[in-house]
Amino acid sequence: IPIQLLEQQGIAAADIKKLSEQGYHTAEGVAYSAKRDLLKLKGFSEAKVEKVHRAACSVVPMGFTTATVVEQTRRDTIYISTGSSELDNILQGGIETGSITEIYGEFRTGKTQLCHALCVACQMPLENGGGEGKALYIDTEGTFRPQRLLQIAERFGMNGPDVLDNVAYARAHNTEHQSELLVAAAGMMAESRFSLCIIDSATANYRTEYNGRGELSSRQMHLGRFLRTLQRIADEFGVAVLVTNQVVANPEGGPFATAANSVKPVGGNVMAHASTTRLHLRKGRAESRVAKIICSPFLPESEATFAITEQGITD
Ligand code: ADP
Ligand code: MG
Repeated sequence: IPIQLLEQQGIAAADIKKLSEQGYHTAEGVAYSAKRDLLKLKGFSEAKVEKVHRAACSVVPMGFTTATVVEQTRRDTIYISTGSSELDNILQGGIETGSITEIYGEFRTGKTQLCHALCVACQMPLENGGGEGKALYIDTEGTFRPQRLLQIAERFGMNGPDVLDNVAYARAHNTEHQSELLVAAAGMMAESRFSLCIIDSATANYRTEYNGRGELSSRQMHLGRFLRTLQRIADEFGVAVLVTNQVVANPEGGPFATAANSVKPVGGNVMAHASTTRLHLRKGRAESRVAKIICSPFLPESEATFAITEQGITD
């Protein structure tokens, strides 16, 4: 529901303009937000937030429904293929739209490569494992390479220049900037059909900007707000949100730590709770990589082996 329709609910055009300038383009976006988050917007007093939120909730269904209806809407969920059939199999098709998938793992385990592969796959027709939409890429580490997209596009017989045109790219220089980019992202998603939103990596800027124990709680608070905005984007626009994450040594793993628990993802509980599906990547033999589903509301914990090749992600 376009935010402009809130004018019919008695919201002033000037306030609607302010909302869309700050990343709110749909009534759903406002209705799904906590009022305390709306209060942080420029030019919104408590009374105004109350009014806008009530108006949005009056046009967006916010109450109970039945499992039947949920089942019907879930059937619209699209799974974007990773390019590896084994990995797609354990994910029941690929990366899910409408929720946040987190990929974590050590340096060079293939997180960024997976992001590149999905940027191309998300543009393909549904019947080929695509999402029939554009990709949005927020890069915090400077590791985005359009050349890789061209190589992957060639594998699928896609037109290279078109594939590149359908990827909106921004480099995020710090955590504030990374949050601001989401405002612009929501604007673009309101204009044209996107099926994928990537943040590679979601936590790198947080780790370099916030130091030590003393800043931990403010870091977690800011990260939590960033991830909530991402969740809102997933809900509002039905895109698959893919975030990558770094790892640190896990002291609890101990001397008998297994490959899976010798490291743990950064971001603590805030990160753990924000991602619907978590995927741990580690190195396998030679060029192979092993992906393990760590946490999913409907998938069993299982592993798949894939390879990183010239063509992207393959079996
Ligand atoms: P991460 O983001 O997890 O640190 P990357 O996704 O950058 O890791 O993965 C790096 C790995 O991908 C390296 O092992 C590299 O050899 C491999 N890789 C990168 N480009 C290619 C390519 N064109 N062909 C084959 N392998 C590649
Ligand atoms: Mg990377």
